[in-house]
Amino acid sequence: MKKCVKLLILMMAVFMLRMNVLATVPIVNADTNNTTDTASTTSTTDAANTASTTDTTNASTTSSNGQTVAKLSAPTGVKAVKNAKGNISVIWNAVTGAASYKVCRITNNDDTKVKSFDATKKTSITDKDIKAGNLYVYYVAAMDGDDTHTSDVSEVAYHFEEPAEFVVNTSFTKKKKEKLTWTKVAGASSYIVYKQNSNGEYENIACTDKTSYQDSKVKKGNTYKYKVGYQVVLPDGSVLLKKSKAISVYASLIDPNKKMVALTFDDGPGKYTQEIVTCLKKNDSRATFFVLGCNINSYKSAVKNADKIGCEIANHSYDHTILTRLSAAQVKKQMKDTDAKIKKITGSNSTLMRCPGGGVNKTVQGAVGKPIILWSIDTLDWKTRNTDKTISAVMNNVKDGDIVLMHDIHEPTKRAALYLIPELRKKGYQLVTVSELAKYRGYKLKKGTIYHSLRKKKK
Ligand code: ZN
Repeated sequence: MKKCVKLLILMMAVFMLRMNVLATVPIVNADTNNTTDTASTTSTTDAANTASTTDTTNASTTSSNGQTVAKLSAPTGVKAVKNAKGNISVIWNAVTGAASYKVCRITNNDDTKVKSFDATKKTSITDKDIKAGNLYVYYVAAMDGDDTHTSDVSEVAYHFEEPAEFVVNTSFTKKKKEKLTWTKVAGASSYIVYKQNSNGEYENIACTDKTSYQDSKVKKGNTYKYKVGYQVVLPDGSVLLKKSKAISVYASLIDPNKKMVALTFDDGPGKYTQEIVTCLKKNDSRATFFVLGCNINSYKSAVKNADKIGCEIANHSYDHTILTRLSAAQVKKQMKDTDAKIKKITGSNSTLMRCPGGGVNKTVQGAVGKPIILWSIDTLDWKTRNTDKTISAVMNNVKDGDIVLMHDIHEPTKRAALYLIPELRKKGYQLVTVSELAKYRGYKLKKGTIYHSLRKKKK
């Protein structure tokens, strides 16, 4: 039995070698160039051997009692299929004359990571040992009754178990570099870092086998967008490439130990949005704009400029319908139509939403597909339309971790914002986006969950 397993592993190693040849030199025909396969060794060195078999289906071998027995053919039709329980079923066609089958698995193209399954009389096995981020390659060989002869190994079947999540984080270092770090994917051979260029396209700027990269081509106060992709080399030599979502980073040192607050502006973009954006830029600050899909086309440049300076553009429905009056499908459409308009301008998916009027119920929570951001300071600016009242609503109440609700479609609010932005800076507040606030306060925002503030967690 042990001998059989060893043989199978050896055969697999040979096959892997052949696969590697195939992967690196795709033009080469493995059957005519594979010198490790004795059955197909070219006859030029020994003319007497020209008669030796090149047709494996008719191959024969000598048994222990000296009799010649027909060699089993390699199993065909091997498939690796994920089943409902999250396990992998490896299935294959029965081989004539086979008494049992042996299956081996190689993890992440590493031939030191070979697992062999117990021999089976069936034409399938279930692999329950599946971990996220790994590439599993399976081979099957048929065995005859006394376990002394095995067939050649089958063609391979494989399964790549996608990682549960592929998260990229960034931080601006004291040496003025933007440092990106990301989740390790065990089956990945390398990672590619992409950076958005001035044409809005993502350019490949680095390829690495590490799980971090530092971009030195950044200037403090500018915003950059990155994506990171991981590459998995598949058994047929092709490469699976999966890219992360785009991440927008503002190259500035945010001090997590200092106070921060998230100003948010709803119902725009509108005719005052650009002035607020200009003021934010001047004060090394960002805010979050919860926009309506129906308004975007009229104020594209304001949205683009806000995005450029690192502001967050988030979803406030398409036309301000109170979402609790809608079906799940209608809510999804409101979200989707707005997301599409945002993405057209910023190139990235908006990750947060705010329900119009703060109206939320279980259906809405289940359908929006994003964290729901409400507020901890309601300025009531839409009601009072009074600059002073809006200012004092903020200045009399503001604390670290607050989310402030305002509306950039009202002129008195714009005037209040132009005062509040430098004033809050003077009082030591860092004005950040909601996502930044969540990041620096250690929150992992969840889809469908409602947040009012993002304060420092008590230890
Ligand atoms: Zn609103």
